[in-house]
Amino acid sequence: MRKKSQIESSFWEKEIETLPVQDLKRLQTQRLKQTVKIAEGVTFYKEKFSGVSIEPDKIKSVDSIRFLPFTTKEDMRALFPFGLLAVPLEDCVRVHASSGTTGSSVAVLHTEKDIDTWSNLVARCLYGVGVRRSDVFQNIAGYGLFTGGLGFHYGAQKLGALTIPASAGNSKRQVKLMVDFGTTVIHIMPSFALYLMRFFEEIGINPKKDIKLKTMFLGAEPHSEETRKRIEAFYGVDAYNSYGISEMNGPGVSFECHMKDGVHIWEDNYIVEVIDPDGDEPLPMGKTGELVYTTLTKEAMPLIRYRSGDLARFIPEPCACGRTHRRISRIQGRIDDMIIWKGVNIFPMQIESILMDIPEIEENYLVVLETDNYVDTMTVQVEVPEVYLEGEKSEGLRRRIINSLQSELLVKPDVQLMPAGTIPVSEMGKAKRVIDKRSL
Ligand code: ADP
Ligand code: ZN
Repeated sequence: MRKKSQIESSFWEKEIETLPVQDLKRLQTQRLKQTVKIAEGVTFYKEKFSGVSIEPDKIKSVDSIRFLPFTTKEDMRALFPFGLLAVPLEDCVRVHASSGTTGSSVAVLHTEKDIDTWSNLVARCLYGVGVRRSDVFQNIAGYGLFTGGLGFHYGAQKLGALTIPASAGNSKRQVKLMVDFGTTVIHIMPSFALYLMRFFEEIGINPKKDIKLKTMFLGAEPHSEETRKRIEAFYGVDAYNSYGISEMNGPGVSFECHMKDGVHIWEDNYIVEVIDPDGDEPLPMGKTGELVYTTLTKEAMPLIRYRSGDLARFIPEPCACGRTHRRISRIQGRIDDMIIWKGVNIFPMQIESILMDIPEIEENYLVVLETDNYVDTMTVQVEVPEVYLEGEKSEGLRRRIINSLQSELLVKPDVQLMPAGTIPVSEMGKAKRVIDKRSL
């Protein structure tokens, strides 16, 4: 646990980060009104607003947001690429796109001011957990339309850290860069951080001794607390969860402070609601539901009540770090990721939590769903060291994994133990954890 003085010096913008809740709500209300006014200039919203009884001037509090219409990924796809622009195209200086994990990518445009606001939010996240001008920041995220590259890059530069645009993949080069430049901070996808662990072992470099790494930002993919712990233990670092979504800029929407207990949403820039994923109603505080976002400072492409498809819950208690911006839990998964097997709803994250808590299991895993003789089967493939591949030891471990999974999931999957390095990994993109080959 850090000392009080360290906590107090961790604010990039202390006044706004610790704004009293009532003032924060007042600011949100004022910015919501402005956003609705700007959005009225977009034909899509103008038409949508005509069916609701709220005019910008009548918005008296943030709670009025529930009278506004939702925006969906399908809307964004239908209006691709410029249909949601609220400014002339010539005022836009950059376009990004979502990764396309659940279908075709959506485009998000930015004015110069949008880029500046976004960079500042990323700088807030970095500074909040101790990144300073003296740090060397290696950004191991794809540079291109993916927001994890340039998004983090501009934020780290704004903060003043020496920024290495390493981009994704190429393990050998990543490690060389860390050694050559004395990297102290990295941003990386959790699946790649896990993958790199084996690589470090192979080349005989001990990250705890042989490099200067002290802080990691894990983002762009769901990952469990157990995964974070494994990564922290192997690299000897503090690893922080960084959650973002391209439609809301990308990284910088929310970040974990050094309390490591949920991610703070920057509520001066976003309104977040937790909505019933099967309906339209907000859920009671603390219940898990779909995160729905409204931008409060976007110029080029303001979005109203955007249904993210991500599932999480609010953490109602104030955070000990002193920030007043609310926290949400780790993302449980996307609605689309949910596996329905034998009538039970299962998220890959539940499986990952169990697996990463069993020390004999290596870092990679895959869930395979198939239909065998009219019966749907689920096999969890895990990699294990050679000593567990045959004989009694192997069967004992397999049974133990099955029992642990069964007690969490309440159904009994099969488990297949595989030699290390045999489950395919993508060095570049988001990890694929589930293959569903079931016949419909
Ligand atoms: P896509 O939705 O096509 O993957 P993005 O690149 O915009 O496109 O990725 C944003 C999504 O990635 C989020 O909606 C969420 O599902 C996932 N994501 C990003 N960061 C995290 C994180 N820290 N934890 C869990 N999921 C995350
Ligand atoms: Zn906090």
